[in-house]
Amino acid sequence: LPIILDRAIEIVMGTMRADACAIFLLDPGDGQLRLRATTGLARGLIDRISVAPEGGILGEVLTSIRPRFAADIAVATSREQELFGHQFRSWLCVPLTLRNRAIGVLSVQSVHPRHYSARETEELAVGAALLGELVAVAQLVDSLDSRQLARLPARPPAGGCQARMDAGEATLRGNDASPGIAIGAAVLRCLAAALPAELTTASLGADLELERVRDAFSKTRNDVLQVQKATAYELDDEQAFIFSAHLLLLGDPVLHERIQQALATGRTAPQAVNDALMEFIVQLQGVADPYVQERVEDIHDLRSRVLSHLRGSPRTAAIERQIVVSRRISPSLVVELKTRGALALVTETGGTASHGAILARSLGIPTVTGVTGACSAIRAGDQLIVDATQGIVIASPGEATRARYEAALRRSEQKRTEFARYRDRPAQTADHARVILQANVGFPADLATARHNGAEGIGLYRTELSFIAGARFLTIDEQVRLYKKAYEALPGLPINFRLLDLGADKFIPGQMQEVSRSAFHGQRGIRLLFDYPHVLRDQVQAFALAAADRPLRILIPMVSSLEELRRTAGLVREAIAAIPAEQSAQRAPELGVMIETPGAVELAGHLAAAADFLCIGTNDLIQYTLVIDREDPRLASRTDCYHPAISRMIRRTVVAAQAAGKRVTVCGEMAARSGPALLLLALGVDGLSIPADAIPQMKKMLADNTVGNLRDQLEQILASPDAESIRATVAACMAPDTA
Ligand code: PEP
Ligand code: MG
Repeated sequence: LPIILDRAIEIVMGTMRADACAIFLLDPGDGQLRLRATTGLARGLIDRISVAPEGGILGEVLTSIRPRFAADIAVATSREQELFGHQFRSWLCVPLTLRNRAIGVLSVQSVHPRHYSARETEELAVGAALLGELVAVAQLVDSLDSRQLARLPARPPAGGCQARMDAGEATLRGNDASPGIAIGAAVLRCLAAALPAELTTASLGADLELERVRDAFSKTRNDVLQVQKATAYELDDEQAFIFSAHLLLLGDPVLHERIQQALATGRTAPQAVNDALMEFIVQLQGVADPYVQERVEDIHDLRSRVLSHLRGSPRTAAIERQIVVSRRISPSLVVELKTRGALALVTETGGTASHGAILARSLGIPTVTGVTGACSAIRAGDQLIVDATQGIVIASPGEATRARYEAALRRSEQKRTEFARYRDRPAQTADHARVILQANVGFPADLATARHNGAEGIGLYRTELSFIAGARFLTIDEQVRLYKKAYEALPGLPINFRLLDLGADKFIPGQMQEVSRSAFHGQRGIRLLFDYPHVLRDQVQAFALAAADRPLRILIPMVSSLEELRRTAGLVREAIAAIPAEQSAQRAPELGVMIETPGAVELAGHLAAAADFLCIGTNDLIQYTLVIDREDPRLASRTDCYHPAISRMIRRTVVAAQAAGKRVTVCGEMAARSGPALLLLALGVDGLSIPADAIPQMKKMLADNTVGNLRDQLEQILASPDAESIRATVAACMAPDTA
């Protein structure tokens, strides 16, 4: 930790041209801010002096979790004055944060009166937020090194990943969570705790074994740096920072010392590495903190990477160009697959409408979920064909099957080229009905795809995904930078920024502890945000600052009453009013309501009158209307969009919106499928918002079909008794081979 803090101070001193810099960390023992590193103040005070966080500038920064500038030392408490001395005239303090919690304060001082620009303050605040993460990892590593963690009983290893598949081709069935075909080798994400047998041979001698360890660590370090670079490219610099924990662990001197000690007693390189990392894992496994559990995953990942380098087959542990088999589909796993260039994903649990599945579709990763027993049936290295379009996985395919799928892959490549021709054409049906076709996005990478594919704006920006991927609440400044990217990617086009839609299956590890998966029917969406008004305020302010003089459209998730809309509108007004007048911010946002609960459909007229626009979220509307858990693999919820209740609810919402003179679009997955999309247009919605990479194909589907015929059947559709008759009506109105 001291090394990291000193290095951070060195960087800050250089970039901020400060005369002094100090880092204080909150001591959980006495709740005081302890001086842990400094340049410019008396170094003899390090670890010796503490400041009570009550009152004073340091305390203010700690409790408000916001930067504070002081031009006069007189505003500090006498204790602070004594500590900092009277020679400093300007003073900027920023919080060190971990998952939106302040864990310390970083201060810079200058002797001469000095003003820090908004940009300088922003950069220091972002740097301090990142430093907070690093400090937490360093503290964890330090406590592992000194074996200070309580030795709680370790949880049993996951297990169940033994090979059980007989030789020969075998087809495993699951859900078509994200379409596409992939052919490649399997890599399992359920590493057994025991050391693989081939790594248990005799030692070649301590020196040679040490060489092997050094080589494997340096290769692993390169792997991690590459992943970090890829993450920065695909997502964001801030997200890439999460790999710093890996790098810190890899460089831990105590870890290396323990490995060397083991080598000296005759252990081999793999045994010594395995023992040392498993000791860390076992120590941490008993700690309930979700943040610590994430680090356990990091260490598992490192262990498998180092061991596979020692084995001389790094591809076994790496997931690049391979098919990952895992128990669960989490948004963060999907992000990792994308950034590491995996081919496809197969999971034991999960349905087609979970957020992990949505993310997989938006990032274009073929995914089959709900393959029972996949982890035990598939061996690492098995050849697999993932036909995610049909929801099947073929293990050890025979030659004929393989050839068939290779041909299918070539055909799909040709189709992509054909769809690409539609990118720049307007979204229009064969009978000239113009459709607003927008993109659903979650990450900056989606923005580039949206622009490339000719999206007419962002119909749904799932802002929570960046928070989940970064595993923490982003600061206002980080958010401003993120949201500005949307305006820059699609200049002049509308962007519907949705307020954080957390709860249910979307939560930030280590945050909002009370949010559990059962919250699908409780604290989620706007309801949850009401409990975290500062999070809502920060996000609204970030939207407004990012928009500056451009139009701002804010979408409210999971609304079930008019009261929720009014209350949100009030909070939005307050948040914007609190932005200092001299800052350029959009002060008159338009507010949209997500219609995704039966309650909202019932009140669509009132909501439409009070809001500026409506957006139907069919994923949740179907889940809450038909009692279909969007996560449950057995309930393939996507097929139920033809249920007559859904058509009627959408039509009622459209009629209500039209009466109020407001636009209504659909941003649920229903809008992204050919037949259902046409049905939505016949029901009268103004536009569709679909995954960015599905836009060219949708434009082609629209160009090949008319909507007039289906619209003529509207009465019949709305009177239909069952899903089958609506499906048949839609199919009958579509051009052959386009459904
Ligand atoms: C929906 O529910 O349809 C929707 C678009 O929101 P999300 O999928 O993010 O819950
Ligand atoms: Mg929803």
